[in-house]
Amino acid sequence: MSRTVWITTAAIGLGLAALAWSFTPQSLSVAVEGMPEVMPMTRPQPPADMRVGVFQTGHMDSKALFAYRGGGFDDRVFGMDVVVVDHPQGVLLFDAGFGRKVEEHAKTVPWLMRVTSKITPEVPVIDQLSGASLSPERLRGVVLTHAHWDHVSGLDDLRGVPVWVTQRELDFIHSGHPAARLAAQLGELHYEVYDFGGGPYWGFAKSHDVFGDGSVVLVPAGGHTPGSIIAFIHAPDGHSYALIGDLAWQHEGIDIPAERPWMSRLLVDDDAAGVRAALLRLHLLQRAMPDLIIVPAHDRRVTRTLPPATRADALKKG
Ligand SMILES: [Zn+2]
Repeated sequence: MSRTVWITTAAIGLGLAALAWSFTPQSLSVAVEGMPEVMPMTRPQPPADMRVGVFQTGHMDSKALFAYRGGGFDDRVFGMDVVVVDHPQGVLLFDAGFGRKVEEHAKTVPWLMRVTSKITPEVPVIDQLSGASLSPERLRGVVLTHAHWDHVSGLDDLRGVPVWVTQRELDFIHSGHPAARLAAQLGELHYEVYDFGGGPYWGFAKSHDVFGDGSVVLVPAGGHTPGSIIAFIHAPDGHSYALIGDLAWQHEGIDIPAERPWMSRLLVDDDAAGVRAALLRLHLLQRAMPDLIIVPAHDRRVTRTLPPATRADALKKG
């Protein structure tokens, strides 16, 4: 074996070993110093007729190992699920899931992501609205947790409905970044930029109380994308939810806490340090508030515990 072949073989071997190591279990160290204090606040008073539900628009079959370090080879269903809040002041969707043209939209995804997960469309939101006694006209907006393709595909079917984003996320969409390719390709949507005028909220620096009654509160949580957010939703039945987008793909990311393996971070995260900081905050929040239902956008084990939006009693008649 020539010296060059030997060195190349050794380098490839070391590279593969390092890659394999990057999938091994490693929890983030929960150092509470320097973390903002997580203050359980007084419970808000959501209107009695506010309803929370979920639309399932599709899924991807993948493995836990891609979602968090130490995940192993067990199969996971990554749901493309859209939470809907029917509030007397307006109906909000959280993300748009897979739309009617999802197969075409999926072509904007990097090759490595396409080959590591299989896409299965279910029913786009636009085709589920009537079953939930909703019409596009009743939608006050689609609040994006972030602008990656699997969260914006359904926007193509909802043109005219306001799309709520932070200025940082809108800048990301217009930046030419490959991870925002589909959002940019969708062209001019009816974007509504909101700001975080409210004070600290549950360990996060700033907040925006959407309806002024504490029922829906948005906080900035950049990292996965520059302008990612978390939405806290407090339902009149006493359930509180934290829609965390893709900060973690599966709940173990918060429970352990553990970040995505290196390869996944490289493919999808804008700022891995920002994601780690948010995971730690959420881990502490879950410790302080065990009843809070933390909802990673793609953990169907969690989203299927929410009421189906199309069930007659889940959402009030429009
Ligand atoms: Zn996603």
